[in-house]
Amino acid sequence: QHYLTRIAERDGALNSYVTVTPEIALAQADAADARLARGEAGALTGIPLAQKDIFCTEGVRTACGSKMLDKFIAPYDATIVKKLHAEAGMPLLGKLNMDEFAMGSSNETSFYGPVKNPWDLGRVPGGSSGGSVACVAAGLAPVATATDTGGSIRQPAAFTNLTGIKPTYGRVSRYGMIAFASSLDQAGVVARSAEDAALVLQAMSGFDPLDSTSLERPVDDLVAGLGASIKGLKIGLPKEYFADGMSAAVRAGVESAIAQLKTLGVEFREISLPNAPLSVPTYYVVAPAEASSNLARFDGVRYGHRSVEARNLEELYKKSRGEGFGAEVQRRIMIGTYVLSHGYYDAYYLQAQKVRKLIYEDFKRAYTEVDLILAPSTTDVAFPFGDKSDDPVAMYLNDIYTIAANLAGIPAMSLPCGFSEGLPVGFQLMGNYFDEGRLLNVAHQFQ
Ligand code: GLN
Repeated sequence: QHYLTRIAERDGALNSYVTVTPEIALAQADAADARLARGEAGALTGIPLAQKDIFCTEGVRTACGSKMLDKFIAPYDATIVKKLHAEAGMPLLGKLNMDEFAMGSSNETSFYGPVKNPWDLGRVPGGSSGGSVACVAAGLAPVATATDTGGSIRQPAAFTNLTGIKPTYGRVSRYGMIAFASSLDQAGVVARSAEDAALVLQAMSGFDPLDSTSLERPVDDLVAGLGASIKGLKIGLPKEYFADGMSAAVRAGVESAIAQLKTLGVEFREISLPNAPLSVPTYYVVAPAEASSNLARFDGVRYGHRSVEARNLEELYKKSRGEGFGAEVQRRIMIGTYVLSHGYYDAYYLQAQKVRKLIYEDFKRAYTEVDLILAPSTTDVAFPFGDKSDDPVAMYLNDIYTIAANLAGIPAMSLPCGFSEGLPVGFQLMGNYFDEGRLLNVAHQFQ
């Protein structure tokens, strides 16, 4: 009830929720009380959570930030929705605003309007998980889910003083999570601390036979590991990430984080990820290619928006998609269709897959030398609305530090390291495959 009241009072200014689910929240809270009375409550039972509106929730609209799905009521629950609500007992507060189909870095592409950054209402909260971070930063939910295809957990977390983690690809089931770029998409958490993030990530993780890319590998105890000393831990600083490009504010924040980690006994050394500078162009071939294929299902026939103007089948496809998808989604579909088309496939898509392999090998080599990698999360603090929305390339370059982790499939997180003129600054830690436990412990020691 506390959170529902806060949402009613304050979300008008932020626009972080697209759907609030008070009946579900209160019924699940009652169920949590009953579990508590029976002595069957877990650590998260009764703690409310809000879901990014990319996860299917049975009987509740799941719109993914798009007019295309504005009237879509999901007929089933995503695996993580089952795990967090039915199994862990977390009451669902509602569904969170996001960039349309998770394409964006500022939450300005949502059909439901932009989300405001609670630290400065004239600035973006980051994207695509803008609703997830704004609601947690403003105390309209204790914790929220998010997804990260190229940085959509880490960049918004950095812009709002939160801790966000994207686990290893395959760690969290994608079943019931609306697909953007299937080989890159991964669900995770945004929270106010590494400990909160560890608790929720633990409850979300694990093998799922319903997702063919889910990994059949036991999940470490992410919470029990939070006490371990980090003395002697080796962290690499990739020289490519510390070249030009980051603002003075971010550089100062990252340097203060490094200094603080040194006092905890961490050893730093310079490393090289020579192919990292190719991440953005590689991603903007691979991600739109996969998106163009995934979004082919929205044809105006089976579900989603259907144009009332169409007079024949071809018009039905064209008008439904033309009306249902916003400009950025249409741009991605066109880029993706182009790079996959006959005559261009070898030059773009195949080439990008080869570069992706080189990026993966850079990380593999680096993790023979160091335990973790530290880098900036973003080039600068949160930017004002409209700053980059007319220039797609400037917007794409915003993800320069986060995308490599998705291309390699490694776990990565962003955590706060101070403020610059009242605006939060974050830094990034990247780990080896399945090393979420170590990442979260370093973040916990740091906090
Ligand atoms: N900003 C990137 C994009 O627009 C990444 C988005 C994401 O991680 N979902 O594709």
